[in-house]
Amino acid sequence: MHCPFCRHGDSRGVDSRTSDDGASIRRRRQCPECGRRFTTIETASLSVVKRSGVLEPFSREKIIAGVRKACQGRPVSDDDLAMLAQRVEENVRAGGSAELDAYEVGLAILGPLRELDEVAYLRFASVYQAFSSLEDFDDAAVLAAGEGPASTAAESEAAGGVGRT
Ligand SMILES: [Zn+2]
Repeated sequence: MHCPFCRHGDSRGVDSRTSDDGASIRRRRQCPECGRRFTTIETASLSVVKRSGVLEPFSREKIIAGVRKACQGRPVSDDDLAMLAQRVEENVRAGGSAELDAYEVGLAILGPLRELDEVAYLRFASVYQAFSSLEDFDDAAVLAAGEGPASTAAESEAAGGVGRT
């Protein structure tokens, strides 16, 4: 672990404690070079299997990036998105598996997003149903934003097919 201040290549742990939810460990480290302290957070690895078969680490940033596009023009703040990504991560971690399909991650987004904003949910669901993976969702959402959203009829139809209720 590099020191974030001076980039020294070594540091030593001085303290650690498990987070309240038990899902991560916060570790205080000290750089022997510049003496400054910093915190690292360790979590069990969680991988997402893309449709191409490629594994990539689960990333809240990726969730936020995908959902943010569906939330364009909607009253959704960065805090809302951060909370949503946290809920998605908690939900998929609660499943207990170390590997998830991108499809499952998309599913895990739908519920919290629907509670957050119905319109954003419909947009996300329609694109999600068409492409079934976050990997593709990025591109599709860009297209939708640039060339006008899908028609209302298409969105309703898609939502009806994807909704879990
Ligand atoms: Zn340092």
